[in-house]
Amino acid sequence: MIYDVIIIGAGPAGMTAGIYTRRSGLSVLVFENGTPGGQAATTHAIENYPGFTEPVSGPELMSRFFEQMMNFGVEMKGKRIEGIDVSGEVKKVFADGEEYQAHALILASGASPRLLGAKGEGKYRGRGVSYCATCDGFFFKDKEVVVVGGGDSALQEALFLGKICKKVTLVHRRDTFRGAKVIQDRINLKDNIVTEMDQVVEEISGDESKVTEVILKNVKTGETKIVPASGVFIFVGYIPNTEYLTDENGLERNSQGYLITDEHLMTNNPGVFAAGDVRAKNLRQVATAVGDGAAVNPGVEHYLSEVKES
Ligand SMILES: Cc1cc2nc3c(=O)[nH]c(=O)nc-3n(C[C@H](O)[C@H](O)[C@H](O)COP(=O)(O)OP(=O)(O)OC[C@H]3O[C@@H](n4cnc5c(N)ncnc54)[C@H](O)[C@@H]3O)c2cc1C
Repeated sequence: MIYDVIIIGAGPAGMTAGIYTRRSGLSVLVFENGTPGGQAATTHAIENYPGFTEPVSGPELMSRFFEQMMNFGVEMKGKRIEGIDVSGEVKKVFADGEEYQAHALILASGASPRLLGAKGEGKYRGRGVSYCATCDGFFFKDKEVVVVGGGDSALQEALFLGKICKKVTLVHRRDTFRGAKVIQDRINLKDNIVTEMDQVVEEISGDESKVTEVILKNVKTGETKIVPASGVFIFVGYIPNTEYLTDENGLERNSQGYLITDEHLMTNNPGVFAAGDVRAKNLRQVATAVGDGAAVNPGVEHYLSEVKES
C-alpha cells in the first residue's frame, strides 16, 4: 500500500499533523518509537499552553492529543524509523527490516536532551543521572539533587524537584539565567533551592551503583567544590532527532542539524515536510509544534493534489 502521508514521530507536532491530515481525508501512517507525546510527555506541568487555566501535566495533555488522533482513524506503528529513501516520487521509510511507502513524508521526530559531557555522566546514567525530572524525580524523594542548566527547562524542573527533594542545587555556567524572569522569581522564593552560578560540572562520582557527589568547578577562579547529591538532572539544550537521515538523502539542515523548510514547511525535497522541534526555527514549544502540525497540512494537500494530477 502507498499511503498519502507517513509521519515520523508522535510528539505534539506529529500528532497534530496526524489529526489535520486525516481530517483532510488522507491515508495516514504514524511511526513512534517511544511513548506518544515526545518531550511534552516528560514534563510535570505545562502552564503556557493556551486553554488550560491551571497547569496541565505533560502526560495528560499528550494522552488527549493521542486519543483525539486515534479517534480520527490514523494508523500507528510503534517502530523506530531507521532510514528513508526520498530519491523518487514515492517516498520510502524503513523500520525493522520492512519498507513502508507514501507520497509525502512529514518528519516530526523532534529533539532529545543534549548530553553534558561531564566525567561520570555515562557511567551513572540511569543510576542517578537523569534528563527527565517527571520520570525520575520521585526516586529522589527527600534526597539532595543537582540540576544543571540555565534555561526555562532547568528552572522549571528545579522548581518541581524542590517540591520532592530535600535540597536542590541549581548549577549554571554563567552568572545569569536565560530562563523566564517569572520562573527565576519563584526559584528565589524557595528555601531548599540554592544556586551555584559560574560553575560547571567537573565530575559526577559515586560508588559502584549510584551517584553520591558532584564536583563543581568555578569557571572564573578555577576553584573546585564538592556537592553531595544522589541525583543529577541535566537540562543543557537539545539536539534534533535525525539519526535516520544520511547525507545521501540530501535534505538541507542548518549548522546544528535542524531541518530547513520553506513557508509551507517543505524541505528542499518536494513531498518531504518537517514539523516541530526537528525544524530550524526560533521557538521550540508545544504551541509552536502544534502550529507546525496544523500548518503543514495545506502544503501536503497541495503537493499531493499536484502529484496525483500528473
Ligand atoms: C523537560 C521539558 C519541559 C518542557 N516544558 C515545556 C513547557 O512547559 N511548555 C512548552 O510549550 N514546551 C515545553 N517543552 C518543549 C516541548 O515539549 C517541545 O517543544 C515539544 O514536545 C516538541 O514537539 P515535537 O512533536 O516537535 O517533538 P518531540 O516532542 O520531541 O516528539 C518527537 C517524537 O518523535 C519520536 N521519534 C524520534 N525519532 C524517531 C524515529 N526515528 N522513529 C520513530 N519515532 C521517532 C520521539 O520518540 C518523540 O516521541 C518541554 C520540553 C522538555 C524536555
